[in-house]
Order: sequence, then structure tokens, then C-alpha cells
Amino acid sequence: MQLAAPVATPAHPQLALVTEPIRWNAGAGRGGNHVPADRAIEVAAFDRSLAFGSKYHFQGGVAQALSGVEVLVELGGPIPIDQVLARIGAQLAQLPKAVTERLRQIIVYRGQDTGYDKQWEKAYGIPGFQAVAAGGGGQVTFFGGKPYTDGVLFHELGHNLPVSTSDWRRAVDSDDAHIAALAKGGALRPIEFEDVPDPVRKARWTPRLAPGGITPYADGRWGEDICEALRMLMSEQHKGHAFADRTDATGGVHALWFGDAYPARTSLLERITQVDLDRDGAIGS
Ligand SMILES: [Zn+2]
Repeated sequence: MQLAAPVATPAHPQLALVTEPIRWNAGAGRGGNHVPADRAIEVAAFDRSLAFGSKYHFQGGVAQALSGVEVLVELGGPIPIDQVLARIGAQLAQLPKAVTERLRQIIVYRGQDTGYDKQWEKAYGIPGFQAVAAGGGGQVTFFGGKPYTDGVLFHELGHNLPVSTSDWRRAVDSDDAHIAALAKGGALRPIEFEDVPDPVRKARWTPRLAPGGITPYADGRWGEDICEALRMLMSEQHKGHAFADRTDATGGVHALWFGDAYPARTSLLERITQVDLDRDGAIGS
């Protein structure tokens, strides 16, 4: 990581900047950079690698602590920085502590990390793959200069959870039988939490309501399935409605909550986060 020349002062007058940029320490513990909560401060440029040896040059930006999480936004993106901070601040304020406690930093790049995208394009077999976000190690990165949907933030938080893949596979096996039986008893239909403008992404992220991965994106990619489960549970709390509904033989329509459709995954995530994610009054069921 290199400390470069101070960045230009952003045009927005609401941001009170310090004159000396701080060195952004990607390895810092939570709160280790002593970023203030009451205002955004200027941070210097640095190079950062997410994975696969990819390299992104962050040109400098501002940082503010929101709900105890250090949020760093690069200059020059498509949306004014104070709006990006406000949006992420509102999202963080509604998350349970057990989830935000596992986060140190959110970093918003104004562009894409093309080397990183290329690796996922290959790994996932999705031509032209462009990540909207990345998560892991207590950090979430957003690409393209803006936070994405609430659902994407919820998803990325899942990459910070200590879940064993074999435990998860066992939960998937158990849920497979459950969702198959539910589907036999009536038509299941996903209910959207928020509009996803890109139809390809929308299809990828729509619940399948069948044995296997929760969404097409997560099918066979169990690390992603963990994140999609967290996304559904958090979105249900956040948006106040079930992720699906079920039409019975007499034509009656019933809300289908994630915890009732995927009980084994839900109970495993509750034990790990120690949060009553499906709000049934108990942790682990
Ligand atoms: Zn993911």
C-alpha cells in the first residue's frame, strides 16, 4: 500500500475534511483507523487487492464511521459522496448488532476491479460477469461508485460469517426434502423485495423454491447459498413481508416465510449469529 499525494477536496460543502489524509490501513481492526462518526474525513489513495492477485487503484476519498463501521467512499463516482454515506448509514442502522459487529469496513470503489471480475467470469461461467459487491474478512466492497440494493449488502455480510461448508451441505440436504414436500402441496411463488433493474441479475437472484440452491446464483455454490439465506432472512425483517407465498388446493394464498421454507438453514444461521432471524421467539429453531 502506498501513500500518494493528497486528493482534491470534493466539491460537496457538507463534508468537513481534514487537511492531512490518513493512511488507510486495510488490515486495521474495527475502529482501528479512528475515523470520526460525526463527519467524513479525507483519506489518501492506495492500491488494494481483493483476491486472485487483482489490483485496484483507489484514488482517494472520504471516510466516516457509521454504526461503528468505517465507510470509505472513493471520489469521482456517479453519486455525490454524502448521498452514498447517507444510504449506507441508513442500511447499517437497521442491521442487527450481531451482523454489524462482524464488519470493519465498507469500501465503495468508483469503478470495477476488472481482474477480479475476469476471475469470477471464469469460475462461475457467467460471460461478462461484473461484480456489484464483494465481501469477506470483515469488509464489504461495492463497485461502480454506489451502494447497491439492501439485498446486496445483506448478501455480502454472509461472506463474513463463520459457516462450515459441511454443516451447510447437511442443512441443504434436510431442506431439500422440506421444500419438495411444500411444492407438492401447492404452488410456490417468490415475492420481490426490491426492484432489480437488470433482468439477468434479477433472474439470477430470484428464489427457485425447489430443492438445491435458494437462487440460481447459489445453486451448487454453497458459499453463495449461505449469503442468499442471510439475504432472504434480513430482507424479510427489513421489508416486512415474506420472501414467497403458497397457494393451496382451495386457492387460498398464504405467506411463506423463509424460516418455514428452509428451516435447517435458518436454524444453523441462528446458532452462528445468535440472532432470532426468523423472529419465532427462539434462537436455533
Ligand atoms: Zn457472494
